[in-house]
Amino acid sequence: LYRPYSVESAAKSSHAEIPPSVKLLIGGQFLDSRANDFIDVINPATQDVLCKVPLTTVEEFEAAVAAAKQAYPKWRDTPITARQRIMLKFQELIRRDKEKLAQNVTMEQGKTLPDAHGDVFRGLEVVEHCCNMSTLQMGEFVENVSTGIDTYSIRQPLGVCAGICPFNFPAMIPLWMFPVAVTCGNTFILKPSEKDPGASILLAELAAEAGLPPGVLNIVHGTHDIVNHICDHPDIKAISFVGSDVAGLHIYSRAASKGKRVQCNMGAKNHAVVMPDAEIDMTANALVGAAFGAAGQRCMAISTAVFVGDTKAWEDRLVERAQKLKVSAGIEPLADIGPVISKQAKDRICNLVQSGVESGARLVLDGRNIQVPGYSSGNFIGPTILADVTPDMECYKQEIFGPVLLCMKANSLSEAIEVVNKNRYGNGTAIFTTSGVAARLFQHEVDVGQVGINVPIPVPLPFFSFTGWKGSFAGDMNFYGKAGVHFFTQIKTVTAQWKDSAGQGVTTVMPTSQ
Ligand code: NAD
Repeated sequence: LYRPYSVESAAKSSHAEIPPSVKLLIGGQFLDSRANDFIDVINPATQDVLCKVPLTTVEEFEAAVAAAKQAYPKWRDTPITARQRIMLKFQELIRRDKEKLAQNVTMEQGKTLPDAHGDVFRGLEVVEHCCNMSTLQMGEFVENVSTGIDTYSIRQPLGVCAGICPFNFPAMIPLWMFPVAVTCGNTFILKPSEKDPGASILLAELAAEAGLPPGVLNIVHGTHDIVNHICDHPDIKAISFVGSDVAGLHIYSRAASKGKRVQCNMGAKNHAVVMPDAEIDMTANALVGAAFGAAGQRCMAISTAVFVGDTKAWEDRLVERAQKLKVSAGIEPLADIGPVISKQAKDRICNLVQSGVESGARLVLDGRNIQVPGYSSGNFIGPTILADVTPDMECYKQEIFGPVLLCMKANSLSEAIEVVNKNRYGNGTAIFTTSGVAARLFQHEVDVGQVGINVPIPVPLPFFSFTGWKGSFAGDMNFYGKAGVHFFTQIKTVTAQWKDSAGQGVTTVMPTSQ
């Protein structure tokens, strides 16, 4: 099996060693790809090449879909209790190997080790929820819709489904997808991010160890081409996607035009509205943690703070706290912020900051030229704060996805809500206040799908669903929770007649039950 990188193996390996190729998973076998082209997986703190991701060939992709299709009938007919029990074992194994998983996330993605544990844990919670998912798969029953006739609905799986993942949560997001899909009775093709595929492979090994039969979960690798094959393949019935707008909208339209069910979670610009009565320490700490944690590479990161009333005092508090954060490689014990994912990402973020400065924003904290001892080639950006930002600026219009907080002003709560509502995204938002009246108004009026009240990153737990709105989501059934089960099942409605004297001769009239 491919052994993804851990801190220990990295320490032992010499730089001259040839990086291993990441395996495919087809029909229960972890295989070397016959691809000619590979993409390097690079440790963003050091630029070391950790492993190589194959651009899966068309034949390999076809074999993965065929394996999933072949496994489907038996898996669909496996009792739901047996499927749940595999999830019960799976969650136990994830707990057992959480350190190994987190180390892999840190090495490939860059986030700090404690934050990588959070990545694993938030995915684990979805698996835990799958252990009792049968209650969400229940149908409905109406007796006697006509004399001696009952109607009931049952939720059946779709068949082969697929998931396409982003780089920023290499453990959590695959776990948003395949556990829900397979517990509902589907089989699955997972396409991890080409930037950090290791956690997906480790999770697939654990799923196999937990008893998931061969072919139920398959893994292919690559980028645009493999994604287009997934969109086009007639045997794939549904696609879960998480990532950028460009990819998401492309996948949504291409796959929908082939008749597939699609759910796409996309980009974000999450605003925190800070009222003058907000509790000072809690609010300032929450803003700094949510803006700069994971180097701002969370789709629910707070990337814009809208201060109602005075802003200067808040800016000072944010700068003071942000300056204390330690920027370093994620494996360093005291690191608060790791690197961003790539050199290109760093350049894009720095250019957006610069464009903000050039269009009149005030740079109150500049982390662009940070030097990190021992990691001179890492993609580091220190916490950066731009004030006096206005909605027409490019840095506001685009998702920055880096450790950059924009500060804006509003004269009233309604003005702040108007700013949030005019933004094209609607993933998450938060209000900080001690007024229940203000919080209630905000919750009601704000045009965003996930709202925090004195909670900076309101990512719902798996018994709810992840409910981004507007440009942050395409589709109509959200990820995980009840909506996730609905996404991965289709309703069959049965009308059954069981009575002693079945009929009264031929009738050509539309049946009614008057
Ligand atoms: P990305 O869109 O670059 O990549 C996501 C996946 O799509 C990858 O597997 C990649 O191989 C594939 N892909 C990329 N471009 C493609 C194209 N043009 N055609 C077909 N496939 C393509 O996203 P990323 O940089 O890995 O992730 C960051 C983005 O994900 C941010 O925009 C972030 O907000 C978003 N995100 C959203 C959520 C959410 O729940 N809303 C969660 C996490 C991340």
